[in-house]
Amino acid sequence: MATSDSRIDLLDLEPDVALAQLRTWMNERGEPAYRATQVLGRLWQKPVRTIDDISELPKALREALAVDFRISSLELATRQASIDGTEKFLFRLDDGQLIETVAIPDGDRLTFCISSQAGCALKCAFCATGAMGFQRNLRPSEIAGQVRELRMLTPAIVPTNIVFMGMGEPLMNWKAVSPTLTLLNDPRALGIGARHITISTVGVLPGIQALAARPEQFRLAISIHAPSDELRQTLMPVNTKYPLAEVIEAAKEFDRRVTFEYVMLGGVNDQPEHAAQLAQLARECRAFVNLIPLHPGGGMGFHPTPAPVIASFAKALRGRSIETAIRRSRGLDIAAACGQLRTERLGRRLPVATEDDREVHVA
Ligand code: SAH
Repeated sequence: MATSDSRIDLLDLEPDVALAQLRTWMNERGEPAYRATQVLGRLWQKPVRTIDDISELPKALREALAVDFRISSLELATRQASIDGTEKFLFRLDDGQLIETVAIPDGDRLTFCISSQAGCALKCAFCATGAMGFQRNLRPSEIAGQVRELRMLTPAIVPTNIVFMGMGEPLMNWKAVSPTLTLLNDPRALGIGARHITISTVGVLPGIQALAARPEQFRLAISIHAPSDELRQTLMPVNTKYPLAEVIEAAKEFDRRVTFEYVMLGGVNDQPEHAAQLAQLARECRAFVNLIPLHPGGGMGFHPTPAPVIASFAKALRGRSIETAIRRSRGLDIAAACGQLRTERLGRRLPVATEDDREVHVA
């Protein structure tokens, strides 16, 4: 099995590092340096499945290269399409772990929602991934690899935008997420503009600082979900470690505009006083607010806020000059929210969406 494979996985390396290693390797064998560039071009830009598929290299060179290096791949276990065009993919990793990727079309954009961990340690009360617990961190080859795999399908699926809103907490896996950001962004790899790549976090402070220190304009979304510590504590246990006030402080210091994610939980965080408190926080950090209808299925005991109540919550925010969007629920018929596909696959019963739930609510 590839987990016991000691070869270097070229997909784990940032382009500069891959090039340096390949050049050294080529040089040691008296091969010209351009061979290294040829290999790099086949990792992400015109991706191939294995080293043996790099047909521009002589066969003997491919064989020698495959002794020291490998190109890993993810096995596509399930693919499901929603009536609204959203597609969901379940990948099986070398060690049997299952992770999800969702492709969401919206006008001329195609956003991939990718996973950064198998499972999640944070146990947010309404989240299906939290309910399954933490399995392990993903490697760069497994995170950026989700994008690579979809590009290798026929026909290829090529994203314009990436959001780290699949399974896991990206800023608890910064060691792999940082090189992944390079792979997504670097023109020699996936070439997606930094402003089109969003990290979503519960507010892991050291991770926010590390993201802020990167020179590229990657975007930051913070899962706020409650405007007070008392309430946030009950929904997001991580609030004890990273309390709201400190998360807000970090958002203020972030030198780019941040987005607040706010899942609307019926009767829990959707009252007028919550809107007033949330507006105050958003104003302090000049944040844009995304109101997210609860995806039924993840939420143990929670109910979606009715559409008219979401609309008046949005109105209350806008009335306080806070830029607000109501996210449309996508892929409801395929349980496309965080962790739901894997949960389904592993046999836990999911509530069936009612006809009313199937409606796509737009602001
Ligand atoms: N750990 C990161 C990223 C993964 S979750 C984070 O928490 O931000 C991406 C977003 O989906 C988060 O805002 C999360 O709270 C939200 N989410 C989780 N379960 C959901 C559900 N059932 N319905 C709607 N949004 C959900």
